[in-house]
Amino acid sequence: MTLLDRTIVRLLPAVPKPVVQLFSSRYIAGSTLEDAVRVVQRLNGERKLATIDVLGEEITRESDARAIAQAYCDVFVAIEREHLDSNVSVKLTALGLDLSYELCRENLESVLREAAKSGNFVRIDMEDSSTTSDTLRLYRELRGRGFDNVGVVLQAYLRRSLDDVRSLADLEPNVRLCKGIYVEPPAIAFRDDDAVRANYVRCLDALLDAGAYVGVATHDEWLIGRALERVASLSPSAYEFQMLLGVREQRASELVDAGRRLRVYVPFGEHWYQYSLRRLQENPAMAGTIARATMGRVLGRS
Ligand SMILES: Cc1cc2nc3c(=O)[nH]c(=O)nc-3n(C[C@H](O)[C@H](O)[C@H](O)COP(=O)(O)OP(=O)(O)OC[C@H]3O[C@@H](n4cnc5c(N)ncnc54)[C@H](O)[C@@H]3O)c2cc1C
Repeated sequence: MTLLDRTIVRLLPAVPKPVVQLFSSRYIAGSTLEDAVRVVQRLNGERKLATIDVLGEEITRESDARAIAQAYCDVFVAIEREHLDSNVSVKLTALGLDLSYELCRENLESVLREAAKSGNFVRIDMEDSSTTSDTLRLYRELRGRGFDNVGVVLQAYLRRSLDDVRSLADLEPNVRLCKGIYVEPPAIAFRDDDAVRANYVRCLDALLDAGAYVGVATHDEWLIGRALERVASLSPSAYEFQMLLGVREQRASELVDAGRRLRVYVPFGEHWYQYSLRRLQENPAMAGTIARATMGRVLGRS
């Protein structure tokens, strides 16, 4: 993390909202479902798939968590109505995990049932390490209850992830593999870039060996290259690449042109401002990356 990154993060709360919006507009579809629909239509027009994320603020009441579950049900209705090629990504804390595991399971089940009506799919995002065990427990429980339209995420920076791959293997799981966005202590997470990459490769190999469907979620060119080598002998329907909205769009298009399935993560919601601030404060290095990308755009260099 550079001094510039740290400075940007310290200054963020003092930055006027429209400027934060400028920083984040490339990465967030907008505040309404219609905004998300428009963005997904554009992506589908470029032969890119999508996964829609409803941005929720900190959930402190049961009714807030139920409202988020309902918002996801509305997303499925819009996906069907507009014939979009998109699934959804949910955060368990938005569905009430911090309030109660049972409430969260109930909410997630209602979203899964709505998805199943149209043969659609729900990805459970992975949040910080305090939620990892509960998330994997709930995933296993739901699969045991017969929900096959659900997938999970593993983070390569966590030292436990290879063991998690092994313990999920009997489910032939659907797993998004990413590096991990939260700041975790070295006792449980690799901090060095090369170590994270090496663990990513180990987890990817183990997942594919176990017959998992893998969402290769990275913009890291080295990892994309390594993944392309690893999947060379597989059917293109056995895996997909995934990227965030607004990041490496040209590279995403090249993957599509080469016949790869490519899914873009599309967040939207009223809470875009709080979400942007929190995510940027969580990860100062990312704040620096985004600030540089935005300045580059403003100056016409990207
Ligand atoms: C589809 C998708 C879903 C994800 N879901 C989760 C999740 O559930 N849980 C979780 O912890 N993390 C999630 N992440 C985030 C992920 O863990 C990483 O933090 C993020 O993808 C950056 O890692 P990277 O592999 O792209 O490599 P990096 O080395 O971080 O990035 C490679 C290059 O990509 C560019 N880049 C990467 N991210 C951005 C950005 N946001 N803005 C601008 N440029 C960028 C930069 O040029 C950077 O140099 C997800 C990522 C993707 C793509």
